Amino acid sequence: MLSVCPHCLSRVLVKADGTCPSCGSAITPEDAARLEGFTIQQVDEGTALPGTCFLCDGPGTRAVRYHVAPNGSKVEATDAHSRAKERKRALAKFALFVTGGIFGRMMFSLVDPRKDSGLDVILPACDRCFSRARSLKPVDVNYGNRSMAFLVHRDFPRRLVEARGSGGAPGD
Ligand SMILES: [Zn+2]
Ligand SMILES: [Zn+2]
Repeated sequence: MLSVCPHCLSRVLVKADGTCPSCGSAITPEDAARLEGFTIQQVDEGTALPGTCFLCDGPGTRAVRYHVAPNGSKVEATDAHSRAKERKRALAKFALFVTGGIFGRMMFSLVDPRKDSGLDVILPACDRCFSRARSLKPVDVNYGNRSMAFLVHRDFPRRLVEARGSGGAPGD
């Protein structure tokens, strides 16, 4: 059965002995119940972010940047020190992708002159969930669509819609 491991949050095929092939932890029915508050959400590069943690819906005091290099499938999760700066960079790259033209290139060069065309998605997290968030891998990476899918708190999709509606995260 394809399931999401509650320990490492990977999407895995649970082994016959009931353990996770990714982290080796046992997946019990109680564990599976803990996942009931979660859902899978696609997040676009450069999207407006809510001010809440994507794992527990608490105040989003931190941010994690998920980066995929253009040539690889390996996802790197790093501390996004400045959410505003990271978002500007991601937006510029998204503009380059959408326009493919001078405007995008211009914006891109203003923010980051390096020719890095990797995919970056930023997610807000809290202090408590930060390390878990950093070890979390996207359940799916769609390079062509400039998006990644993550296991998130069930309220996060609604928060994302709200953030888009208000044109940005509070404090941006
Ligand atoms: Zn696991
Ligand atoms: Zn949290």
